Amino acid sequence: AQQIHIIGGGLAGSEAAWQLGRRGFSVRLSEMRGANLPGGGDRTDAHHTDGLAELVCSNSFRSDDDTSNAVGLLHHEMRQCDSLIMRAAAEAQVPAGSALAVDRDIFSAHVEKALAELSNVTIVRERVDTLPSDGPTIVATGPLTAATLAQSIGAATGADSLAFFDAIAPIVHRETVDMDICWMASRWDKGDTKDYINCPMNREQYLAFRQGLLDGEKTEFKEWEASTPYFEGCMPIEVMAARGEDTLRFGPMKPVGLDNPHAATPEFPKGRWPYAVVQLRQDNRLGTLWNMVGFQTKLKHGAQKELFRTIPGLENAEFARLGGLHRNTFLNSPILLDRQLRLKSASHIRFAGQITGCEGYVESAAVGLMAGMMAASELSGRDWQSPPRTTAMGALLSHITGDAVAETYQPMNVNFGLFPMPDEAVKKKERKRAYTDRAKRDLAEWLGRERIAEPA
Ligand code: FAD
Repeated sequence: AQQIHIIGGGLAGSEAAWQLGRRGFSVRLSEMRGANLPGGGDRTDAHHTDGLAELVCSNSFRSDDDTSNAVGLLHHEMRQCDSLIMRAAAEAQVPAGSALAVDRDIFSAHVEKALAELSNVTIVRERVDTLPSDGPTIVATGPLTAATLAQSIGAATGADSLAFFDAIAPIVHRETVDMDICWMASRWDKGDTKDYINCPMNREQYLAFRQGLLDGEKTEFKEWEASTPYFEGCMPIEVMAARGEDTLRFGPMKPVGLDNPHAATPEFPKGRWPYAVVQLRQDNRLGTLWNMVGFQTKLKHGAQKELFRTIPGLENAEFARLGGLHRNTFLNSPILLDRQLRLKSASHIRFAGQITGCEGYVESAAVGLMAGMMAASELSGRDWQSPPRTTAMGALLSHITGDAVAETYQPMNVNFGLFPMPDEAVKKKERKRAYTDRAKRDLAEWLGRERIAEPA
């Protein structure tokens, strides 16, 4: 039987190896940490151990509430698919209220033991430097993919597609924006398109906001982040604010050509330009998520929420993602990958985990789980049907493989903004429950139909 080569024994690679191994497929799992290389093995800048599925930072898988939280729902769905990451989390759980948190050493040891016990999975401590030219492969080398392999991936995908990002901008849930204050328009009403949501500011509000950016608490650079190059045109907003009182008004907060209809007068029936403006741009096809244009930031998350809710129209904003900054190697997946996570230009290669542009431990593992299932399905000659997009797994997969806007593609946690909206008639208070009930029903139906939940 053909062996599947999985590169990277992190969260995604370990989960993919489990999904394939327990179905009887032969797997070679290559992990560079612990490799006997000249100079004493290999490391990333964030990993500290040689253990598989090391949690590099927090020890939390976030909310375990599967009735009102998207990541809790993802936990549920992964458990239904016999996820190794979820099994290990249960073994290693520590008290953390409604969150699922783990002892990271017990967690990692459990993952490694479970894989080592599968006789058809071979764990090899080696660094892979080039993409294999043939044979079924899953690349799950994560946001800190070793430089040589990153170059090889860059060459196969086009250098621009392997983004190293510095700062990312926050994303807002559309339904939490107050449209009695904001309005839809493009600058100068170009081509009659009304593509942006505009949040107007008067002078006083602008000056207070700028001061808030200057004073707000910032995240410190880690040493290794300091050497990561800045993208030109992706300057943190607070860095720009520090350059001068009006720099933002001539940059991302430029108000020219934006008549605010809420400020219409008999003299200016179409409205007047505000003093400054914050623009939101659509971030997904569903139109449920909007990113704050030019608002990439290093402000601490608490400071961001507080300050950004002083923007007129965003007083009650809920954020699907806050701005942030760290090194991250990821593909422009909506362009490069097909619906089965395969590289369009070399279909024997699948990608999984954070390198596909999902964000977070659980999401990375979930994409690894799906990649494993997809490979199993392909190798047994079955057609693969993706999980319904009403499920957390399906919503995440749809986002990565086509629904996200490629030009602004940035890593994303699972959230209800990635799901089709439930019926309008569902009351606001009951909406989260409507998402999760629908997802559980549809997942169960899909699993019954696909029969890929069962080992061969
Ligand atoms: P990883 O878990 O990183 O696994 C990739 C594996 O591939 C690693 O074991 C690596 O050693 C190996 N590898 C790399 N290159 C090669 C090669 N050429 N050959 C062989 N092996 C290779 N998410 C959260 O949910 N909570 C957090 O607190 C959090 N903190 C983070 C902090 C930092 C600094 C970073 C960078 C990310 C953080 N993330 C966090 C995001 C993300 O969830 C993790 O990075 C997660 O580990 C991604 O899973 P993965 O399987 O895609 O990659």
